[in-house]
Amino acid sequence: MRAHNFGAGPCTLPLHVLEETRDELVDFRGAGMSLLEMSHRSDTYDEVHQGTIDTLRRVAAVPDQLHILFIQGGASLQFGMVPMNLLDTGMQAGYLLTGSWAKGAFEDADLVGDAYVAWDGSVGGFTAMPGEDEVEVRPNTRYVHVTTNETIGGIRLPALPNVGVPLAADMSSDYLTRPIDWDRFDVVYGGVQKNLAPAGLSVVFLRDGAVSETARQLPRYLRYEWHVTGNSLANTPPMFPIWVMGKVLADIEATGGIEALEDRTRAKAERLYRVIDESDGFYRNPVEQRSRSHTNVVFRLDSPELEAEFLEETLRNNMIGMKGHRSVGGLRASLYAALELESVVALAELMEDFAVRHRS
Ligand code: PMP
Repeated sequence: MRAHNFGAGPCTLPLHVLEETRDELVDFRGAGMSLLEMSHRSDTYDEVHQGTIDTLRRVAAVPDQLHILFIQGGASLQFGMVPMNLLDTGMQAGYLLTGSWAKGAFEDADLVGDAYVAWDGSVGGFTAMPGEDEVEVRPNTRYVHVTTNETIGGIRLPALPNVGVPLAADMSSDYLTRPIDWDRFDVVYGGVQKNLAPAGLSVVFLRDGAVSETARQLPRYLRYEWHVTGNSLANTPPMFPIWVMGKVLADIEATGGIEALEDRTRAKAERLYRVIDESDGFYRNPVEQRSRSHTNVVFRLDSPELEAEFLEETLRNNMIGMKGHRSVGGLRASLYAALELESVVALAELMEDFAVRHRS
């Protein structure tokens, strides 16, 4: 039986994508070998590679002014690559400190360039995102960095802030679950291992001409231009996740595209928030209403013992990955793109039933 996978990433992929990958794995379309055994310079791989790029451009409606890059090192490497490539001498970058991941991005930017906190959510315990006009932008700001969804805190940026400069965004945990207003961004990045593919790369969207003069002095892998010139084939790319991502993106396209995925994601989240809100405080979500994440629903019960008991029950019911992040505890249901609504309904029913049985 297939598990209900509420893991925070890597996470569930569409079953038919896994099956199709399995069927093609040993002998790729009659080639007498697996795609995984082929040269990344072969015509066969090139078709797969370009196919994934083309599907991505179509599905996410990416304008020609943005390059699509596949870069290894996960979203974490982008924490450093964004400031290294965008910040010229004399320029600085503003960071919205919205949670653990934004903090990581800010700390790395601070290491390699001039970065400042443009909005600080730590005072509120990272339970809300900033309003559209709350961000303070200093002079000579090259970009403002946002984390559109904080995977650990379970908060989501409801609307992009008005900042008057280009935005840079980490979209790892809500990647493609809503349309992207491309005009606002010079760079968008995210690991693929939640919504889009097996782990192994970041998808980076980079505005043409956005990199600074000084970026030329970076080692090649860290230079965006090197990846642009090579069409993400300057060195050996992670062929497996790129191949599978093409299938996942085709699946998103065939099921109504990003708009439909946005609706499905919202519906899944609403189902769980409804249980929480109607539980009379048995389940508590600490997040301000408008900032509630659609992809990571966090909640607490009255005591660590009760939480442990609940977690036990989820496991007994074939639901995995619900332990909250080790830094914050509690419980978390991640509702990524391929998670079926029926899994969410099963969890919602378990939550309702558990509350009835344990309410004092
Ligand atoms: N940013 C966010 C919002 C994340 O959720 C994660 C991973 N959970 C990261 C960055 C780090 O991603 P990676 O593991 O791909 O480096």
